[in-house]
Amino acid sequence: MMPTKCQQLFKSLKDWQKRFSFSREQENRFLRTVAEQSDLFLRILTGFILIFQLYNICYVLIYTDARLHTVASRVYMLMYLFMLIFTLAVLKLRSAWRQRAPIPWERFTFLYSLYGGVLIFWSVCLTLYDQRVSDNLNVYLIVSLSTAGLIYMKPSFSITVYMFSEILLLIQLPYFQQGAISENYGKYVNSVCLALVACFISLYRNYTLRQSFLNQETIDQQRLEIEGQNKKLDYIANHDALTGLGNRYCLDHYVADLVKNGARHRAAVLMIDIDFFKQYNDTFGHLKGDQCLRKVAETMEKLAVPGKLFRYGGEEFLCLMTDLAEWGDGYLTSIALCWGVEGLELPAADTQKNVTVSVGCTEGIMASQEDFMNLLNQADKALYTAKNTGRNRAVRYGDSSPFIEEDGAVGK
Ligand code: GH3
Ligand code: MG
Ligand code: MG
Repeated sequence: MMPTKCQQLFKSLKDWQKRFSFSREQENRFLRTVAEQSDLFLRILTGFILIFQLYNICYVLIYTDARLHTVASRVYMLMYLFMLIFTLAVLKLRSAWRQRAPIPWERFTFLYSLYGGVLIFWSVCLTLYDQRVSDNLNVYLIVSLSTAGLIYMKPSFSITVYMFSEILLLIQLPYFQQGAISENYGKYVNSVCLALVACFISLYRNYTLRQSFLNQETIDQQRLEIEGQNKKLDYIANHDALTGLGNRYCLDHYVADLVKNGARHRAAVLMIDIDFFKQYNDTFGHLKGDQCLRKVAETMEKLAVPGKLFRYGGEEFLCLMTDLAEWGDGYLTSIALCWGVEGLELPAADTQKNVTVSVGCTEGIMASQEDFMNLLNQADKALYTAKNTGRNRAVRYGDSSPFIEEDGAVGK
């Protein structure tokens, strides 16, 4: 029965150790986080220690009329001065490190652990010296508990410091105390309990800090994953899988962004449609058709700059140009697109020809979604004209065409 329980305890201790044994990189991150989080508390603690030393120094000076004529007053003065100077040195080092970029946070934990260790050792010395005139352990008690609660120390370091100080205190107490050992048993027991409580507080603090660090790391990891997934989803929702161009959804948001807060733009809308693409698919197959779409899209995307090209649907594209330097730039871009695609020299279904596009374009002021819809409508009509006047051409909305009636129906 017993060995099994012991084994269980041993196993859970091993699990516990495994859970909190960080990689070097993780340990550094942990120390940095701890130092950042506890910097304020440590400043408060050092502040208290400074005030305490100043008060005591003044007290000794007043008490001895600044003559320090007794040995005890000189010993106390030395101890207070030592702690005052040591605290100031630690604070000076801290502010020097804080001015570095990046701040070496991991060193702060080391510095403050050292400070905590010296402070506890100092409190033991002061408590021992106090025994000559008073029989309390107050300084040791206050310092041990506050360092355990405020200063992060590695478990091995804190246990060593508390145990070492306690042993020192127990060994030295009989030499400094006035009464017989038997009269002071209670004090020995109290000091041992105090050292154990301080160890426990320090270890528990270490445990909670590590646990919350691990929780934070998990949350950060999950947040990064979610952000990554969101970015992916956002891309998928906004882009066409075949050509990588923005899709209709993306176009809607793009326009909404452009006209928000009533912004006005000199805009051009170009509707582009690949000529005889059904025939192309029927002749070469849909896979070749896809390749052709990709090449045409890639070429037009470059030529459309500074406008932005979207896949409007099927083999139709839309180019939106805003803030035109000159009226007519939209039409020039339309011509460039026609020439560019024909210049690709992709053989069309009709072997005599290359793959070509027809473009309908229009220009105007765009200050709202309605303006954009009107321009789109006009570009669509112009495209219709381009298709009906022979394809492989750019047509500007409003240019007269013998093939289109007033109501948009195809004429004779
Ligand atoms: P027009 O010159 O009048 O535009 O004639 P068209 O054949 O290009 O026009 P139509 O609307 O008759 O045919 C468009 C074709 O585009 C039909 C469809 O199969 C093809 N298409 C649309 N999307 C894709 C796609 O993603 N991949 C491939 N391979 N073909 C597509
Ligand atoms: Mg077509
Ligand atoms: Mg079409």
